[in-house]
Amino acid sequence: MSSLPTLNSVVTCMSDYDPESLRVEIASKVVDEFVRPASLALETEIVSIYDSLGRVLASDIISPINVPSADNSAMDGYAFSGASIIKDGVTSLTMIGKGFAGNAFDGKVSHGQCVRIMTGAVMPAGCDTTIPQELVKVDGDQIQFQSSVIKAGDNRRLKGEDLSIGQAALSAGKIIRPSDLGLIASLGMGSVTVKRRLKVGFFSTGDELRSIGQPLDDGCVYDSNRYTLFGMLSRLNVELHDFGVVKDDPDAMRATFSQAAATCDAVITSGGVSVGEADYTKQIMRELGDVSFWKIAMRPGRPMAFGSIQGDQHRAVLFGLPGNPVAVMVTFYQFVRNALLAMSGATQVAPPMMQAKTVEAIRKRPGRTEFQRGILSTDATGNRTVRISGAQGSGVLRSMSEADCFIVLAHDQENIQAGDTVGVVLFEGLV
Ligand code: AMP
Ligand code: MG
Repeated sequence: MSSLPTLNSVVTCMSDYDPESLRVEIASKVVDEFVRPASLALETEIVSIYDSLGRVLASDIISPINVPSADNSAMDGYAFSGASIIKDGVTSLTMIGKGFAGNAFDGKVSHGQCVRIMTGAVMPAGCDTTIPQELVKVDGDQIQFQSSVIKAGDNRRLKGEDLSIGQAALSAGKIIRPSDLGLIASLGMGSVTVKRRLKVGFFSTGDELRSIGQPLDDGCVYDSNRYTLFGMLSRLNVELHDFGVVKDDPDAMRATFSQAAATCDAVITSGGVSVGEADYTKQIMRELGDVSFWKIAMRPGRPMAFGSIQGDQHRAVLFGLPGNPVAVMVTFYQFVRNALLAMSGATQVAPPMMQAKTVEAIRKRPGRTEFQRGILSTDATGNRTVRISGAQGSGVLRSMSEADCFIVLAHDQENIQAGDTVGVVLFEGLV
């Protein structure tokens, strides 16, 4: 993306920017300011309504019609003029016809008259009220009901009540959800202008990594990060470019970074960014890009590289995530997910934080944000509670797999007692 700023231009105006000890909130702010301009330059495309689910709307959708197009009945019952309601006692009306959805009664209804009407049927001329059928006594063409059960205007949907002509039905930057598909269809539109999907490249680094199908030599581990990254990226509706496992070898590393940066908008790696690493990841990132190596005040996920890598024609945003499997997921959800959504032009990116009572004490050192993995439930009084999902080591992927939320313990937070309220972010919607 040619529209990326330099990292220096973003961070120089931030007084609290310290790459050696960076608060999570500051790191998030740097990431957001760095990537936001990219969304403006991102091309748009027209897709069918079916293909627009999960995509980012590129421009406002203005309603070309009134929805509903006419006043209509909200109930099955009898339509009439509210002026016909007798003040006290019983109202009696004479039925003069029927109106169905898609087949309206086309006569005029006068004082003291009514029309049998079905839900969705256009209100006949002279009618502004529907009395539900359950409240009515019918005798031939006469109906009767207690006047006290109804007011003029009840059970009528007004023309344009959902959307009126010229009103913005959906705003640019919205991620299209199932309800939006229905809304778009209700306007008679069969296609939508969306931002094009981001191209995201990813690979794992490390000599100790083995791929599925290879024997597991002594001291080696199977590459799992590429699969969690594949899963997390798939949920974001981006175009995936999997560059495999790259050895800690300068030539292989240089070739893969260059190829990924040339073809992708963003490149995500895992491993090789810790302090004292003997591998070449950091060296090559430095050589090919505008990259800062952060020590973020968080657990897990302390080391992370962020910036851009120069490709042939443009620069790609770079996230060099730590190697530990849980740290990969935590840094992805804390920084990468929101950044990719922002680059895609989405206006709402951060997931909502909710509250829960912890059922157990949690040890917490002030001075860093901690992301524990939690399991939610509800106690006998209906309050939301959370407990920790087993061993919390940053290599213990099972702690993520068994959990359904992150417990987010803020930077300055100290030890937590059982019964205290903590912030939680649900995996549902994230993963
Ligand atoms: P690093 O950040 O490269 O020092 O890696 C930290 C730890 O994460 C080491 O124990 C690595 O073996 C492990 N690790 C790194 N990359 C992966 C991967 N792709 N899959 C599983 N474990 C990994
Ligand atoms: Mg390594």
